[in-house]
Amino acid sequence: MPSTFETVLVANRGEIALRVIRTLRRLGVRSVAVYSDADAGARHVREADTAVRLASGYLDIEQVVAAAKASGAQAVHPGYGFLAENTAFARRCAEEGLVFVGPPPQAIEAMGDKIRAKETVAAAGVPVVPGGAEPDDLAAVAERIGYPVLIKPSAGGGGKGMIVVRDAGELPQALESARRTAAAAFGDGTLLIERYVTDPRHIEIQILADAHGNVVHLGERECSLQRRHQKIVEEAPSPLLDEETRRRMGADAVRAAESVGYVGAGTVEFIVSGDRPGDPGYFIEMNTRLQVEHPVTEMVTGLDLVELQLRVAAGEPLPLCQEEVRLRGHAVEARVYAEDPQRGFLPTGGEVLALAEPDGMPHVRVDSGLRPGTVVGSDYDPMLSKVIAWGPDRETALRGLDAALRSTAVLGVTTNVAFLRALLADPDVAAGKLGTGLIDQRLDALLAAAYGPAAVPGDVLAAAALILHRRLATVAGDDPWDVPDGWRIGEPAWTTWRLAARGETVEVRVRGDAGRAAEVAVGDAPPLAARLEGAGGQEVLVTLDGITSRYTHAMDGGTIWLGRDGRSWALTPHEPGDPADRPGAGRAGDGIVRSPMPGTVLLVKVAQGERVTEGQPLLIVEAMKMEHTVTAPADGVVAELPVTAGRPVEMDAVLAVVRDEPERGEES
Ligand code: ADP
Ligand code: ADP
Ligand code: MG
Repeated sequence: MPSTFETVLVANRGEIALRVIRTLRRLGVRSVAVYSDADAGARHVREADTAVRLASGYLDIEQVVAAAKASGAQAVHPGYGFLAENTAFARRCAEEGLVFVGPPPQAIEAMGDKIRAKETVAAAGVPVVPGGAEPDDLAAVAERIGYPVLIKPSAGGGGKGMIVVRDAGELPQALESARRTAAAAFGDGTLLIERYVTDPRHIEIQILADAHGNVVHLGERECSLQRRHQKIVEEAPSPLLDEETRRRMGADAVRAAESVGYVGAGTVEFIVSGDRPGDPGYFIEMNTRLQVEHPVTEMVTGLDLVELQLRVAAGEPLPLCQEEVRLRGHAVEARVYAEDPQRGFLPTGGEVLALAEPDGMPHVRVDSGLRPGTVVGSDYDPMLSKVIAWGPDRETALRGLDAALRSTAVLGVTTNVAFLRALLADPDVAAGKLGTGLIDQRLDALLAAAYGPAAVPGDVLAAAALILHRRLATVAGDDPWDVPDGWRIGEPAWTTWRLAARGETVEVRVRGDAGRAAEVAVGDAPPLAARLEGAGGQEVLVTLDGITSRYTHAMDGGTIWLGRDGRSWALTPHEPGDPADRPGAGRAGDGIVRSPMPGTVLLVKVAQGERVTEGQPLLIVEAMKMEHTVTAPADGVVAELPVTAGRPVEMDAVLAVVRDEPERGEES
């Protein structure tokens, strides 16, 4: 390994920091983590050899540079996001004699601006999407290229601030909204406009260049399964490409990299029309860093991209030429997000109470930053982990990924895992007929497949009641019969548990010794023979009528969390007479408006005492640069408005109370 690097600082957090640390460890290089106060107990801090606190967070260039110097690092790996594409940071590292593990600043600069990037690669003969950019008049550009068009922030990333516009009437408002998002998220409101490619597929090429003029590509990844232009599932190779197209796009990607004197690992992104696969892949942008989805390329090439980045940064020539790049089998990655698909994919948060991640499954890789106790808040990206599976063919890889997701449980934080499983099972996805619009088009069917008709399946309710029953018995002195309902003549009495989840309450009755022989009846269903066994740590086995299921479980105050098959449920037991709703359930009629997600109040559109009508926008809450408009639940008067623009709010925090308008008579 590069003898020049004894110590490398990783200027990132979460799963990517751990990913880089893993390679450093394998290579015998000392790793230095950095952390914000919110991450003091994080896994990347524990697993690095050394960790340095950043008083003002991950974006403070001077602090990161000072941490690198103080810890004796020779190089800094930026991961992705944060400072990965920040030229000022790359330059500051160089000034301080630190090797920035990434491309030269001028390559970042040329590609960081989508407008300039398109001009540069087009001049090198790479096809780009027809369009135009400011300072030209964007309305005139749109007229020229024809609708639908796509607006993008030139400095953008992560799919933020992009808007599809179907006709000229929608353009002015869309431009205004895109500009606001762009300015807030990227500090630059400059926009460009492109033809919106129909039935689009996102195909990108991984490239690798050394400082001696060698550039190779490592094949493509298809990332067409997206929501809000944000990738969710990625795979290599693409089911769409034939050898000839692969070679042509690979050559285009190499040319794009050469046009900016690229050095290091990078990705050239193309958009391909799914209904016209013969068309050239149009260049859309180049990401001058490692990408979230790089593991699928690693699995089909057998290469470690972080190791190759370090070797190139140390000045070594590439260890392989294009002919030596071999692609084997198929790999698929799914991104686990802290979001709730059942509530419009709003970001969630909370403390990880119990965690199950696939462990020791063949050809499965998990890149995760989670551990029990991790607090997921609204400060950082909601991506929690990635699950990746390889197989000799696509079908096997998909099956392996589903099995891996089935054994994933993040209790305490609602995630999209069940949705991911439904997505992988979609017939078009299984057949490789992908598209960036697929998820939106099939959203209802995917949600139904993921979550079914009932808020909570009966066997899960039974499991929760058995766990509560057993705990109660233990608290009551380990005498299984000594529960509050006491004895009836000759047989144990039923204990009734009222369990609430997602606004529904169900009664579950239990009697007997849950650990040996009990009976459980959910709602009006007949009782089933039941048994509960601990399976070590956070796992329990629940047998109902002879069928045993394995659950991950955790308690959080009064709430019981259960996870199974990639799904998780939070159930709250109620005493009879308790209000049935969980705080977040948002009971219609009480006029209390709560924050649907942890975030920041961006804009307050009404004043206290103001008269509002049902559906009228009251305020905008923002998290992860995603704006969510909160509306009035009914006609009335804004009686309370305990919010200030710019202030953070927790999930379920009261934002406003709308009361019935007082009668005219009462007013006078
Ligand atoms: P970001 O920097 O946010 O990743 P991109 O320019 O890469 O922005 O676009 C993000 C996604 O938007 C792409 O993956 C693709 O799905 C979609 N997209 C981008 N450009 C077009 C286009 N011209 N037509 C259709 N879809 C597009
Ligand atoms: P990938 O193409 O690697 O999946 P994404 O576009 O999803 O990359 O972004 C990866 C991470 O980097 C995300 O956390 C995203 O929010 C962040 N990111 C991407 N581009 C930028 C940018 N220009 N400025 C700040 N953060 C960015
Ligand atoms: Mg992109």
